[in-house]
Amino acid sequence: MMETDVFIAGAGLAGSIAALSYSKAGRNVIIADPFVYNDNAQLDYRTTAYLQPSKLFLERLGIWETIEDIAMPLEVMKIIDSSSDKNRTKIKSQKEFKSAEISDLPFGWNVKNSLMRAALKSLIDSQSNCELITASSAIDLLCRDSIAYVKLSSGNKVKAKLVIAADGRNSILREKAGISVKTHRFGQKALAFAVTHSIPHKNISTEIHNSGGPFTLVPLPDNEGKPSSAIVWMENGEEAKNLMEMETKSFEREMTVRSCNILGPLKLASKRSLWPIISQIADRLYSQRLALIGETAHVVPPIGAQGLNMSLADIKVLSDLDQKYPDQLGSTDTLNAYQKNRIFDIRQRVAGVSALNQISISSNKLVQNIRAFGLENFFQVPAIKHTTMKLGMGNR
Ligand SMILES: Cc1cc2nc3c(=O)[nH]c(=O)nc-3n(C[C@H](O)[C@H](O)[C@H](O)COP(=O)(O)OP(=O)(O)OC[C@H]3O[C@@H](n4cnc5c(N)ncnc54)[C@H](O)[C@@H]3O)c2cc1C
Repeated sequence: MMETDVFIAGAGLAGSIAALSYSKAGRNVIIADPFVYNDNAQLDYRTTAYLQPSKLFLERLGIWETIEDIAMPLEVMKIIDSSSDKNRTKIKSQKEFKSAEISDLPFGWNVKNSLMRAALKSLIDSQSNCELITASSAIDLLCRDSIAYVKLSSGNKVKAKLVIAADGRNSILREKAGISVKTHRFGQKALAFAVTHSIPHKNISTEIHNSGGPFTLVPLPDNEGKPSSAIVWMENGEEAKNLMEMETKSFEREMTVRSCNILGPLKLASKRSLWPIISQIADRLYSQRLALIGETAHVVPPIGAQGLNMSLADIKVLSDLDQKYPDQLGSTDTLNAYQKNRIFDIRQRVAGVSALNQISISSNKLVQNIRAFGLENFFQVPAIKHTTMKLGMGNR
């Protein structure tokens, strides 16, 4: 039987950052994941925009300095509505949010998930008090008043004061703890991939609305001397599947049209990956000796870069509680304090992002006009605009 302070199931971005947070604070950590790091088939082609509070937290953990050279600042957010045109080429209205209106800093910084995951693995490997077990899943959980036991698919058993479930949206540990979830399926899928283009992005992130969901271009550093962006293209499930299977040339033509040609012809610069779009929220964030974080606790559609940024807020609250009550690791009191601190913010953001997604899906002309009208009027009232911008940037 292995023994540790904290056991973490799942070495995705949330679990890995949690492992570093606890191990850097002096806790012994074991983290397990079925992922095999040198398997290219498992590469994540998504990127993540880290908002200001997340950057501060990653700086505190000494993670930021290892990725800052590959992080692209996002200084302007543009929203375009192209819904007046069935062919999706014409811009009906467009508005810009500039981070300089409310802050000296960019809205966020965009980093490729594959590079972030590799950076986190190197940092975990350099921590003598953090053990990463790969190619191994958590398959069972038994919690007692003062200790929890986890069984791994490798046959190992781990004894820990605190177990963190970061094993994703279909979490086994959440199920073993009897915590249920509320899930809403939007019938959409998101394609995520990288492109190069002739026109520089000028650090502007652009969200283009038509129907089926937004088409979002997020700046990346140059790729072999060419301007580059990450794209998240949300469409209804059937259409997304067709786009996924389309041969490259036709796909490039389609996406250039859908982008209203704002960056010139788009060239595919990575494989395409496909993600089902759901919103999901766990009924509670803890049970005896167990805390849920990241997508195990909450999933939102990829709009406004909220998903992982919410997860970093989860980890920060857990870490701060551990520093405040060092003798209380995994106690019901601290886990209850974690839930109280996080649940309201999580519920608000899950509901808010889901509502925005529902509006952005609509092919109904009335809803599209209300969306354009709302955008127009939103910009007339600076106080509302700036407060919403700050909330969107992850401030609470
Ligand atoms: C297209 C797209 C774009 C996005 N863009 C952004 C963005 O810009 N900003 C943002 O904040 N968020 C964004 N998100 C959300 C963000 O990507 C996710 O919130 C984040 O990747 C989820 O990380 P996670 O570690 O919680 O879960 P996961 O990445 O799902 O990790 C779970 C891990 O657990 C492992 N696992 C599974 N079962 C077990 C088990 N039984 N035992 C042990 N391990 C297990 C898995 O192998 C995996 O490694 C985006 C999402 C999508 C779909």
